[in-house]
Amino acid sequence: MPTVARGYGLKINRSGMAICPFHREKTPSAKIYPDGFHCFGCGVHADVIAFTQRLFGLPRPIDAAKKLNEDFYLHLDLGGHKSVNEVSEYRKKQREREEYERWEREAWNTLWGYLRTMYEWREMAPRSPDDEPDPRFAYALGHLDWAEWLCGEFINADEEGRKMMRSEVERIGGFWEG
Ligand SMILES: [Zn+2]
Repeated sequence: MPTVARGYGLKINRSGMAICPFHREKTPSAKIYPDGFHCFGCGVHADVIAFTQRLFGLPRPIDAAKKLNEDFYLHLDLGGHKSVNEVSEYRKKQREREEYERWEREAWNTLWGYLRTMYEWREMAPRSPDDEPDPRFAYALGHLDWAEWLCGEFINADEEGRKMMRSEVERIGGFWEG
């Protein structure tokens, strides 16, 4: 994405931001990701093909793919059926990627929410020895280390490692509902 964005005249600053070509602005609000474009100003979200299609007002994604092929000397054979399949295969991968990223954000929110709650519950210690301890306090004592460990694992894991934590994340998500 950065190569294509630069190639079509966008200036990307050190934080990966550029002036959005899809709406008028003076300060950059478009983020250029390795595999996509997102404008925080006008909300345009696009992969490389959709970006090119929109930028040049091309009718179909395949037209954008052809333009990229020519402009960036990709030497792809975009003549026949195979190439259409290639484009839809690319789009499928892109969708899977977006699904994973959505899951990853939600999973992190779940784990981080769990850890924060454990910290809160730990503050519910009985005020005097005669007080009945709050069950949430007891729960936090038993699970705080676990919650910290999970968050640490999730941060440090790669994509495969995070996927392997899926059932654990679901269990904790279910814990909120239960
Ligand atoms: Zn914009």
